[in-house]
Amino acid sequence: MITGATKVAAVIGWPVAHSLSPALHNAAFASAGLDWIYVALPVEPGATASAIEAISTLGLSGVSVTMPHKTAMADLLPEVSDAAAVLRSVNTIVRGSDGVLRGHSTDGAGFLASLMDVTGTSPSGRRVVVIGAGGAGRAVVHALADADAARITVVNRTVASAVEAAALAGERGDVAATGDDIRESMIAADIVVNATSVGMGTDELPCDASALRAGQVVVDLVYHPLETAFLRAARDVGCTVVDGLGMLVHQAAVQQRLWTGVSPDVAVMRAAAESELARRA
Ligand code: NAP
Repeated sequence: MITGATKVAAVIGWPVAHSLSPALHNAAFASAGLDWIYVALPVEPGATASAIEAISTLGLSGVSVTMPHKTAMADLLPEVSDAAAVLRSVNTIVRGSDGVLRGHSTDGAGFLASLMDVTGTSPSGRRVVVIGAGGAGRAVVHALADADAARITVVNRTVASAVEAAALAGERGDVAATGDDIRESMIAADIVVNATSVGMGTDELPCDASALRAGQVVVDLVYHPLETAFLRAARDVGCTVVDGLGMLVHQAAVQQRLWTGVSPDVAVMRAAAESELARRA
């Protein structure tokens, strides 16, 4: 029941009506018996500063941030976490007990948690190829470096962005730019991650999948469809596959822990996201 004491959390973005976040956050609040509600609030591009003021004035208890406000939020909030500062991207706002709004980036932690959920092991000491160097690719490279991956090779259509992303991993980061280098890196990798938007709603592959082999772990951050053509190709040759819904759910679980101090039921969140996707299909 919603009362005058119910705490309100929200996702801000433009557009935002398609967001899965209300479904999975509200399911977790209900399952934990928390008097919280989560809504989607459209905030136009360029309105990030007034959104920050509104969050304070209205006393929102937790905020998720999506496109196009992530970078501006990192620049404008009074305090941001180390990861958010390095990535220049905020996807979560937490109100401290002193009322100060602090920005975080939970994508990297969500990626690692979803990987460990399926494989049972950390990427420490592993060789990883990350395809894609946008916001998600950069968060993945940063998280893998933090988790002590042995080598992180970035592949991207725009090579200059791959160079920037690989730099987030310091000496353990490098770039594969030619067809032969990409194939060699893929064959040598323990883990291959698609962090491009290729495969979203289509059967396109983000790279030549013939280099994949049994025993590798293949992750796709795309979750529409849940099994992308890339994951299907990987599963067919005996790879362990990790879909993008896992990262979405786990990064949301990190958000809830930051807002409420309570660890939400990740299985409940995943079930809610799956049923919302099924409803839309
Ligand atoms: P972004 O910042 O716009 O970056 C897009 C990336 O995809 C860039 O590397 C871009 O390459 C590449 N790309 C786009 N179209 C391409 C094409 N036709 N051929 C080759 N490369 C192409 O987006 P993002 O935030 O990183 O998100 C990337 C994907 O991850 C999206 O599908 C998003 O939905 C998904 N994602 C999932 C989660 C999750 O929780 N599962 C979280 C975040 C993002 P260029 O640099 O050359 O343009």
